Amino acid sequence: MSNAINLKDHIRGIADFPKPGILFYDISPLLAHAEAWKEAVNQLAEAIRPHKPDLLVGIESRGFLIAAPLALVLGTGFIMVRKHGKLPGDKVAHSYDLEYGTDTIEVQADAVKPGQRIVVLDDLLATGGTMAAAIKLLRQVGGDVRAAAFLVELTFLSGREKLDVPSVSLTAYD
Ligand code: IMP
Repeated sequence: MSNAINLKDHIRGIADFPKPGILFYDISPLLAHAEAWKEAVNQLAEAIRPHKPDLLVGIESRGFLIAAPLALVLGTGFIMVRKHGKLPGDKVAHSYDLEYGTDTIEVQADAVKPGQRIVVLDDLLATGGTMAAAIKLLRQVGGDVRAAAFLVELTFLSGREKLDVPSVSLTAYD
């Protein structure tokens, strides 16, 4: 049976954002289209369910948009991995290298119970640096990271090679 919704029809490339020479993949039209968004959430739910997560994690900020509705569909908890300085209370931090400089992400120290099964969500997999850092951070707080999942994968950047867990993406660009 053919599927009437093609997710790529709802993802647009915007040239020269945030810097000249960069083609930015924008998921705003997908979020704005009720049926396409429902289809994307359902596809991710089917891909993630076999990993039997206890918790879904969203990476700031577009990862939140994906992980929160999926957690409702799958009946799991939802927690946030945020940039430095955004979360209140006791936190655990992890710093990682960027092309120029470093970045720090944080999670609340009590967000994960030891051994909880986790699937981590973000909108897009590029070089894999962000997701690899989030996985390390979640392991630091005792999580059992089972998989990573994305709406979009830029396959020419080979980001999944940086990830030591199974990785799901609904669309790919090369
Ligand atoms: P990576 O660490 O190189 O894999 O970059 C992935 C991170 O950068 C994710 O958190 C994405 O939200 C963001 N990102 C990089 N390129 C794009 C893009 O073209 N569209 C949307 N987000 C992007």
